[in-house]
Amino acid sequence: MLSIKEILDRLYKVKSPAGFEGDIAKVISAIAKENNLEYRTDAMGNVIVHRKGAGKKCLIDAHMDTIGFLATYIDEKGFVRFDTLGGFDLPDIHHVTVEFLNGTCGVISYEQKTDFKDRKVSSMFIDIGAKSEAEAKELILPGDAAVYAGELRELSNGKISAPYLDNRIGVAVALFVICSLKDCEYDVYAAFTVQEEVGLRGAKTAAYGIDADFAIVVDVTDSCDTPGFDGFGEVKMSDGAAIKIMDKAAIAHPAIVSALCETAEHEKIKYTRDIITIGGTDAGSIHTSRSGVPTGGISVPVRYIHSPCEVADMADIEASVKLLVKTLENHAVII
Ligand SMILES: [Zn+2]
Repeated sequence: MLSIKEILDRLYKVKSPAGFEGDIAKVISAIAKENNLEYRTDAMGNVIVHRKGAGKKCLIDAHMDTIGFLATYIDEKGFVRFDTLGGFDLPDIHHVTVEFLNGTCGVISYEQKTDFKDRKVSSMFIDIGAKSEAEAKELILPGDAAVYAGELRELSNGKISAPYLDNRIGVAVALFVICSLKDCEYDVYAAFTVQEEVGLRGAKTAAYGIDADFAIVVDVTDSCDTPGFDGFGEVKMSDGAAIKIMDKAAIAHPAIVSALCETAEHEKIKYTRDIITIGGTDAGSIHTSRSGVPTGGISVPVRYIHSPCEVADMADIEASVKLLVKTLENHAVII
């Protein structure tokens, strides 16, 4: 059985911008296979891993896509115009290195004449070093996708930094949990979904197909503890797992919130209450699937979300794993 860090390391060997999740799907499927779990890929590209049980059907969800960039046009000098896959803060993408899926690297810059306040994605471009349109098109074509270049690094005090901790962390937690569950009567499905960052799309079909009795979404949430952020939210790095109360796409079902909070209290797992005031998670698609699915979530606090250098604490990841395992093994969710 791989450790959570070993799973993260394997996930970081591949790229998975929204709409291009094939490589990470293979990594997840391989790990499921190594752990003798059933798995399949649905028509949208979601990977569904199944651990059979006699009890109610539980869906653990983690989106496996990331934000990214899509080449839209290449000019006569070989500069690449692009659009974004998912939401960005514009300052985060100034002068960063990106890598296309085929390994071609480039840097994002902007039209020099444009004032910072007037900058938009449409006034920016990717410089891949080409001297002409023809030369650029030997390397990439409009429609090719790119991601931030960067790797997983260890900081001090158990912190890690990388692009795409959103949602490599959620994938690692969900995968580790379904592989390591022991005394669990629930019939557990883990859905690793596509295209969350562009509108919670994969979760919609995954939830419909699985038809679960309840669902728990694993994702990240803003850590409100950096300078200038104090006072805007409860969730802070190193304070443990964050139990979802609400995001902009879903309000967590009270039975799931109670099960998670009571388990955390009973097992002495550090936790905070997660209220997301900007953005949603797959919970938004899942809870309104079919005739409704009671849905909650566990989020891991992350700083600088959607930047090329997100930061998280391994201790919070471990707390989230323990909370999910104990909640499912204690059969704490009463629906
Ligand atoms: Zn996410």
